[in-house]
Amino acid sequence: MEKEITQEAEFDQGFGICIIQYNFINGVEMKYVYFFGDGKAEGKSEMKNELGGKGANLAEMTNLGIPVPPGFTLNTDTNTAFFDAGGSIPDEAVEQSKEAVSKVEAIMGRKFGDTENPLLLSVRSGARMSMPGMMETVLNVGLCGATIPGMIKQSGNERFVYDAYRRLITMYSDVVMEKAAGIEFEDEEMAIRPQLEKLLKKVKKDNGYKMDTDLSAEDLKQLCEEYKVKVEEILGNKFPDDPWEQLWGGIGAVFQSWRGKRAISYRRIENIPEEWGTAVNVQTMVFGNMGEESATGVAFTRDPSTGDPHFFGEWLVNAQGEDVVAGIRTPNALNVYCKQPGKSDQLPSLEEAMPDMYKQLVDIRDNLETHYHDMQDLEFTIENGRLWMLQTRTGKRNGIAAVRMAIDMAEEGLIDEKTALTRVRADQLEELLHPMLDPGAETKAVVLTKGLPAGPGGAIGKIVLNSERAWEMGEKGEKLILVRLETSPEDVAGMRAAEGILTAYGGMTSHAALVARGWGKCCVVGCGDLDINYKDRTVKVAGKTLKEGDWITLNGTKGIVYEGEVPVANADPISNEWYKKLMLIAAKTSRLEIRTNADTPEDAAIARKFGARGIGLTRTEHMFFGEERIRNMRWMILSESVAERKEALDILLPYQRDDFYGILKAMSPFSVTIRLLDPPLHEFLPQKDDQKKIEEIAEDLHVSDYEIKSRIAQLHEFNPMLGHRGCRLGVTMPEITRMQVRAILEAAAKLTQEGVEVHPEIMVPLVGNAKELEHQRKNIVEVAEKVKDEIGIAELDYKIGTMIEVPRAAVTADEIAQHAEFFSFGTNDLTQMTCGFSRDDAGSFLPQYVDMGIYEDDPFKSIDQKGVGELVRIAIEKGRGARSNIHLGVCGEHGGDPESIHFFHKLGLDYVSCSPFRVPIALIAAAHAALED
Ligand code: ADP
Ligand code: MG
Ligand code: MG
Repeated sequence: MEKEITQEAEFDQGFGICIIQYNFINGVEMKYVYFFGDGKAEGKSEMKNELGGKGANLAEMTNLGIPVPPGFTLNTDTNTAFFDAGGSIPDEAVEQSKEAVSKVEAIMGRKFGDTENPLLLSVRSGARMSMPGMMETVLNVGLCGATIPGMIKQSGNERFVYDAYRRLITMYSDVVMEKAAGIEFEDEEMAIRPQLEKLLKKVKKDNGYKMDTDLSAEDLKQLCEEYKVKVEEILGNKFPDDPWEQLWGGIGAVFQSWRGKRAISYRRIENIPEEWGTAVNVQTMVFGNMGEESATGVAFTRDPSTGDPHFFGEWLVNAQGEDVVAGIRTPNALNVYCKQPGKSDQLPSLEEAMPDMYKQLVDIRDNLETHYHDMQDLEFTIENGRLWMLQTRTGKRNGIAAVRMAIDMAEEGLIDEKTALTRVRADQLEELLHPMLDPGAETKAVVLTKGLPAGPGGAIGKIVLNSERAWEMGEKGEKLILVRLETSPEDVAGMRAAEGILTAYGGMTSHAALVARGWGKCCVVGCGDLDINYKDRTVKVAGKTLKEGDWITLNGTKGIVYEGEVPVANADPISNEWYKKLMLIAAKTSRLEIRTNADTPEDAAIARKFGARGIGLTRTEHMFFGEERIRNMRWMILSESVAERKEALDILLPYQRDDFYGILKAMSPFSVTIRLLDPPLHEFLPQKDDQKKIEEIAEDLHVSDYEIKSRIAQLHEFNPMLGHRGCRLGVTMPEITRMQVRAILEAAAKLTQEGVEVHPEIMVPLVGNAKELEHQRKNIVEVAEKVKDEIGIAELDYKIGTMIEVPRAAVTADEIAQHAEFFSFGTNDLTQMTCGFSRDDAGSFLPQYVDMGIYEDDPFKSIDQKGVGELVRIAIEKGRGARSNIHLGVCGEHGGDPESIHFFHKLGLDYVSCSPFRVPIALIAAAHAALED
C-alpha cells in the first residue's frame, strides 16, 4: 500500500526515477536512520545538515560518554523522501527504525509495546537551525491499554502513569491527529487542546483542586477516558491504542510539521530554505516526574544575560521537561549562586537538594564547554536518582553577555582572540552603547503605540511638544521626550536636550531619525496614530489623552511607546573591561581605519573614547546656526556686493576659527576632515511665508521686508538637491571658501605653535568636474600661503581633497585626483544621484521596492553594491591610477553599516567614517571583514 502511493507520487513529480535510482545505487540501501546509545553514536555534531541540530548533538554527547537516553535519528533525507512519497515514511526508513528500536530495547532491557516491562519513546523534531516553538514533540509514545498495567507495576506509581497517558493523548491528538492532518477550526476554542484543557479544568473545579498535582490516580484515569471520547468526537478518529501506530503517526506528524503554517512563516522570516527538511529524533523516555528523587531542568553553562561564568539554570522536582518552560510552577535555582531574590531564594537549589546529581551535572557542563568551546544550553532530567542529558546546543545570549563570554573564554584559553571577535555580532554592541529598558518591566508595561525603531535604546521622560520648552526644561535637568509631528533643523537644540524623540510622521531616514542616530539617541518615528495638538499641548493615543508633562517611555530598538515610566539601565561601555578588551582586539585586527563624523569637540571626544582615530567629516553649516552667527550669515547672504559680503564673513571668521580650534584639538594628533560650506543658502533664511520671522530679521539687519523676500525668491530652487550648493557656492563666491580656509589654517597654526599636533584636511563638496576642484584648490593654496606668511611659520601640514558624491566625479576620478590628495565618498548623495531618487521623497515607494525585492535592502541604509558600489570601485581604481598614494574613505551613513563596511573593506578603502555611537559597531564589523581575508 505504502509502496504504491510512493511511486504514484514520484511519477507525478517527474523526478521519481532519480529518487528510486538514488535509493538503491548499486543495490545499496539508503541510510535513513542513525543510532545513538550506550556510549556510541553513528552521528556527530558536524552532521547537523543531515541529523538536525538536536540529533547531531545527541550523537555527539553520546560519543563523549555523557549519559543520553538511547535512541535514533531519522535524517532530513527521510523528510524529503516522505514528501516525495506524498506524505508517507519510506519502507527502508521503517525497517531501519525497527532495527534501531531493537537496539534500544537491548540497552534498556525493556520492550516497546511489552505488557510486562514496556519501553516508552519520545518523538522530537530537530531541524538544521533551531526553530523555537515551531516544530512538534510527542512524549510518552507507547502507552496504551496493553502497556499501562506493566508501566504501573514497573513504576509502582499509578498516578504517574495516568498523568503520562493524559499528556500523550493531549500531545498526540493535537500534533498528529489535528495539525498534521491539516484540520483547522475557525473558532480556536473548538480545537482539541483547549477542549481537553476544559475537561481538566472541570475536574479541578468539581473537586475544588488548585493544582494539576492535586488530581488523584483515579481522577486521571477517569480523565483519560473522557479525553479519548472527546478526541473521537472532535477529530472523528479514535486515539490509537497500538504503540507502533503511535510511533509512525508521531514520526509522520513531525515530518509533516515542516510544511505546517507556523513553520512556513517562520522559515520565511528567517530565510530558511524549504528543501532542508527536518530530522526526527526517537528516544527512550526518561521521567523527571517519578517522585521526589526525580527532577527536570534547563541550564546554561554561563549566565546568558550577563555572561557571568557561573553555571546558571532552573529545575523542578518531580516534573516533566515542559513544566519548567511553561512557567506553571516557579522553578528552583540550579545553585546557590543563581538564586533570584524574592523568587527562587526561598526554594532549595539542586546544589543543596541533590548534591551528587549537581556534581555530575557540573562535570558534564565542564566537559561540554571544553568540547564545544562555547556557551551551551542544556536540558536534563533526573529519573529516580539517575541523571540524563536530553539536549545541548549553542546558547543564545544578549550583547552584553556575548562580549563578556568572548573575552573570558579567550582569557581562559578556550578560544583564540580571532574566535572571540566572531562571537560578537556587530549589532549586538548596540546594547552596550545605549540605555536599555529593563526587559522584565517592559513586558508588563502598557503599550500606547508602535512606530519605526529609528534610534536604539530606551528612554523615559516627560512629554514636551515644543523644542524651545524642551531646551529650557533640559537646562533644569529634567528628563523629557520631545514629541513632534516631525522635526526640522530648528528643533535641534530641543532634540539634543531630550532623552528621546518621538514623531508622528517620517521614516527611518527622516530628519529626526538621522539626527537621533548620529547622536546615539533613542528615537521612534512614524507613529501615525499619535494625534498631537500643539495648541492644547495634548497627545491623543490609544484612547487616552496625555498632557505635556506626562511620563512616557520609548523603546527605540523596537519602535514601541509605553505609558508611564519603565525603568532603564544606563549604558556605560567605557567602564566595561570586557568591552574595552574586545575593542582592542578589533582595532588590532581591522585593516580599515575608523573615523567619526563629528561637528563638535564633545562628539569628537565621545568618538575617540569609542575608538575613532580621526574625523572623516566635520560639517561646517551647523556652526552658522548659533544666534549671533546666523545673524551675520544672513547678512552675508543678503549682501549685494562682494565687499559687503566680505565684511560679514570677516565677522564670522573668529567664530569659525574657534570652532576649528576646538575640534582639531579634541582629535589631535589624528586627522580632521573639514568640509567647506555645502547646503544651499536659502536654508539659512526663513520660509517665504513666515512673515513674523522675516520682519524680525528685517528689523535686526536694518533692511526692508521686501529685500529679504526678494532674496528668498531669488534663492528659491525647484530642486535644491541639484541646485546652487556644494562647491558651486565656493566657485561663484570664492570669498566664502577663503574665509573658511583661513579659519581652519589659523586655528591649525595656533595649535601648532602651542605644540599640539594637528592634521586638517580641507574637503571640497559636490565636485563633479575636475575644473571645479582646480579652482577651489587655487584659492585654498593662496590663502594658505598668506596665512603662513602672516603668522610666520614655514611648515603647516594640511591636505586638500574632495567628496566623491556626484556620479560624474566617480567616472572622472582620474582627472579629479590630479587636484586631490584624498577622496571621501559621500555615499548618501552618491546614492541619491545614482539611483535617481531623493532620500526625503523615497518613502512613498522604496519600502514597497524592498518588499518586492527590486532593491534587496534600503540603499540608504546598506550600500547598493551593484550600482553605487560599482561607481565607488571605478573611482578607487581611477583615483589610485592617477595618484597612487591617494587616501580613500567613506563618510556617508553607510560608514556605520556592518554590511556596507564589509563591502568597503573588500574594495580596499583606507577608512570609513560614521557617527560617534556607531564607531564600535564599525570597528567590530571592520575586524570581522578583515578576518574573512
Ligand atoms: P524543543 O525543541 O521545543 O525544546 P524537545 O524535543 O526538546 O522540543 O522536547 C520538548 C520537551 O520534552 C523538552 O522539555 C524535553 O526535555 C522533553 N523531552 C523530550 N524528549 C524526552 C525524553 N526522551 N525523555 C524525557 N523528556 C523528554
Ligand atoms: Mg528542547
Ligand atoms: Mg553631500
